[in-house]
Amino acid sequence: MAECFKNYINGKWVDSSTLETFENINPSDIEEVLGIFPCSENEDIDKAVHAAKDALVNWKSITPPERGCIISEAARILASRKNELAEIISLENGKTVSGGLGEVQSGIDMATFIAGEGRRMYGRTTHSGLKKRFAMTKRYPIGVIGVILPFNFPMALACWRVFPALICGNTVVLKSEENSPETTVLLTQILEEAGLPKGVLNLVHGLGHEVGEALTLHPDVSMVTFTGSSATGKLIARNCVSRHAKVSLELGGKNAVLVMEDADLDIAADSVVCGAFSVSGQRCTATGRVIVHKDVYDEFLEKLINMTSSQKIGPANDDTCVVTPLINKKQLDSVLGYIERAKKEGANIILGGEQLKGEVFDKGYYVAPTIINNVTPDMEIAREEVFGPVLSVLKANSYEEACQIHNTSPYGLSASLFTKDVNRSFSFFDDIEAGVCYINAPTFGSEPHMPFGGVKQSGQGHREVGWAATETYSEVKTLYVDYSSRIQNVQFVNEK
Ligand code: NAD
Repeated sequence: MAECFKNYINGKWVDSSTLETFENINPSDIEEVLGIFPCSENEDIDKAVHAAKDALVNWKSITPPERGCIISEAARILASRKNELAEIISLENGKTVSGGLGEVQSGIDMATFIAGEGRRMYGRTTHSGLKKRFAMTKRYPIGVIGVILPFNFPMALACWRVFPALICGNTVVLKSEENSPETTVLLTQILEEAGLPKGVLNLVHGLGHEVGEALTLHPDVSMVTFTGSSATGKLIARNCVSRHAKVSLELGGKNAVLVMEDADLDIAADSVVCGAFSVSGQRCTATGRVIVHKDVYDEFLEKLINMTSSQKIGPANDDTCVVTPLINKKQLDSVLGYIERAKKEGANIILGGEQLKGEVFDKGYYVAPTIINNVTPDMEIAREEVFGPVLSVLKANSYEEACQIHNTSPYGLSASLFTKDVNRSFSFFDDIEAGVCYINAPTFGSEPHMPFGGVKQSGQGHREVGWAATETYSEVKTLYVDYSSRIQNVQFVNEK
């Protein structure tokens, strides 16, 4: 019998106000129900937001280094429970245990970095235009932060959003994601054990268009941080902006690798295959496009096909599998829909293109790693994020044309260039419309101390993670101290 889970509000595990529930399904064995979670509603969000608002006064008064001690303790507990956590991530998310271990490590790294940020939340001091006047800035909390996350990195992303929000003195209402809710329960338990005061972090389970929407519309939620698809991000931004709440959006991508004629083709092909097909392409930084210089196009395509054909496909409990299941049936239908429309637009399926059936494949939803060519930059398959194991191959006559093709996408999350030319490498940073750029590396692999985020439809300008995180989750106040013992004002000076 699957375990029934509860919401966590004001330091207590509580039932939701509805009797409705949803099932958390194992994507590697869709007959297996891993847990039963409440379909919460507005009333539950309201309780959680009130608890977070009440807890704010005390939490704000604790110094950032002291808050950092609690986050450091969370890092220690995460490390001590690493294997157990990785197994649960693997079960509910469909990535291998190694993938789960990577996520937990990412959470530990983030906790360690952010705990240190408690001693670095720098303001600035500068000279005033007036004599005997001190001018400076200092960072303050924003208030109650609503956190809404996608399914694909349930532990890493929760740590990447919740720890920075907390170190800055905010309190949090976290809405768990429907396909990976247990991981957020574990993280909440860990923060509770680490000594987080009641009400500082609240967890509400439920459906996006119900509790997610309620969180974005609640008048006492001062900021929403959302990571997910660009379509949902647009709705969330609208709700937040309409009531003057802050919003940070980390959205989808149509990330590309550019392979030049002087590239190491083996390393480039390896990076593209890994970026396109590992975890069935369910990464925001997955490689959805490869743009290849005409002089090496045929040779590169052959390598790509050979390497892709040898990828092991199967369930998360087999750690040797690279291509693991899609998260659910909706995602399967969406991926197959993109492939069908690509065919109708005239693209050519070189490899894969269909759902895999039989034995382990019948226990989940798998699409064969798919390589598509005869793709033109204006086709849907070249422009839109598929979030599945599908790679479009495009040909370019030059580096300049490759950049031009790259920039036709409405997204701009990550991009990579394979070349041995140092001048071209640095030019790439100037020429390419993407928030995270790599030379001779795959389109994924961000580090917790470095900012992360996209341009165009991949975000809206904020950067999360790294040193940017405390900027995102705090308000800057501008502070003056006048020690001249008389009334003076820059306007009076300027008017003279
Ligand atoms: P999604 O947009 O379907 O859902 C994301 C979250 O939004 C879920 O928790 C869902 O419950 C919630 N939600 C849905 N409708 C809502 C509404 N009306 N109001 C409030 N909340 C709502 O995304 P997904 O399928 O879970 O994840 C895949 C997407 O996430 C991809 O586009 C991927 O690129 C993106 N992603 C981006 C990053 C990044 O850092 N840029 C990282 C990981 C994933």
